[in-house]
Amino acid sequence: MDIFYIDLRTKENGENEMHRSGCKHLPEQTKRYYVGLFGTCNEALKEAKKIFPKSNGCPFCCKACCSNVVRKITVKETVG
Ligand SMILES: [Zn+2]
Repeated sequence: MDIFYIDLRTKENGENEMHRSGCKHLPEQTKRYYVGLFGTCNEALKEAKKIFPKSNGCPFCCKACCSNVVRKITVKETVG
């Protein structure tokens, strides 16, 4: 279980970044919103979106739920 926070500073694209406690990008106490204690960042993000609809996971500590991370998609071509 980890504690998750939302960065209160809205980014240029209108998103609020979500961090896990201990992340080096975690904003200082007065600039973050406590989301709660969750087992996965996806659960935390779901909760965070109730308050900040455009929440997004931090690409460093919440990779699994960061929609900005470009995932490598391997397309299997079938010949035949
Ligand atoms: Zn982070």
